[in-house]
Amino acid sequence: MQQFPPFWSDPISHLLRQQPDVPVLYLSPQILQATARRFRGGFPGLVTYAVKANDRPEVLDNLVAAGIDTFDVASPSEMAAARRAFPQAVLHYNNPVRSRDEVAAGIANGVASWAVDDPTELSKLADVPKSAELAVRIALPVKGAAYDFGAKFGATPDLAVELLRRVDQGGWHASVCFHPGTQCEDPRAWAAYITEAARICERAGVTLARLNVGGGFAADRCGKVPDLNAVFSTIRAVTDRVFTARTPALLCEPGRALVAEAFTLATRIKGMRAGGRTIYLNDGIYGGLSELRDMGLSRRIRVIAVDGTMRQGAPIPRVVFGPTCDSLDRLPDGLVLPADAQDGDYVLFDGLGAYSVAISTDFNGYGLHDIVSVQRLTGNRNLPA
Ligand SMILES: *Cc1c(COP(=O)(O)O)cnc(C)c1O
Repeated sequence: MQQFPPFWSDPISHLLRQQPDVPVLYLSPQILQATARRFRGGFPGLVTYAVKANDRPEVLDNLVAAGIDTFDVASPSEMAAARRAFPQAVLHYNNPVRSRDEVAAGIANGVASWAVDDPTELSKLADVPKSAELAVRIALPVKGAAYDFGAKFGATPDLAVELLRRVDQGGWHASVCFHPGTQCEDPRAWAAYITEAARICERAGVTLARLNVGGGFAADRCGKVPDLNAVFSTIRAVTDRVFTARTPALLCEPGRALVAEAFTLATRIKGMRAGGRTIYLNDGIYGGLSELRDMGLSRRIRVIAVDGTMRQGAPIPRVVFGPTCDSLDRLPDGLVLPADAQDGDYVLFDGLGAYSVAISTDFNGYGLHDIVSVQRLTGNRNLPA
């Protein structure tokens, strides 16, 4: 846990001194903890963390310091990571497809809540203690997210009614969960899911103690801060309205929205061709930039020269390749970078804490590994912080 301020004041002071030739992810523990505290203050229920967004110990430790004690885990390895950060961590195992060995690992780890979306998967959970919660995961064709999470997991409403009855008759605590899709900016996606959840419960004749409204909360990808409070108040208002018998307690499991803003990724230009119209970076889609393939461009980019000054030239669109010898290693939309950008400059991407280092591979001997803690993420030579 961060008991004292990080040694480095900001990314640029580190880049200037160390001139790293590998990509570096800069973490502001202060921003990470403040984001978690804001989320806990604003969301009308329990805030848990989806470990897959960023499972690094620095992240888990700081979230624990900010009061997060419950973790959405998808694998035995994520269970271990959460317990390393916080031995009393409460574990929610919300990957609905599990091998028998994984089920046994979940039981051995005392998993408190399990997602389920299919009868064969439910039958694998026969040995789960009745003190546990089994949450039926539902999927609806809703819009609003960067890409659809309902395509892989989630029961139809009819199947959910059936599963919910079976969970209830089996003696477990019945719950409902869903995930509206990641980077979801539209509160109506949650409204649609919560409304359907209430309908399913009514049809099944089951009363919920708790409803899990998933992750999917948006982060700032283009310089516009998403209105999380609008999402929170919609969740509160719709839940109060549609559950008539008893209003369930709420729980959410953000990944992206808790960690994205606490990190800046620094990559480096390692080659230029065609008069600078083509650029090779030391990180790409097999490393920390893999999400650019699915989510489109982040527009929060700064180019910093090796002397620490910020490049201010006119923006020029470039074709951008990553460092590996695979021709697929290309940013689909390229980047728009200042005209005076040069070989050896650093290209900084703000807001890249989620699904960056978590996805990075070692392909071709590259990849994102280094995390450096800093006191703040902004600040450079010609712009006051
Ligand atoms: C990935 C995932 C999350 C976190 O999603 P974000 O979009 O990062 O908030 C939450 N719950 C489940 C079950 C997930 O698979």
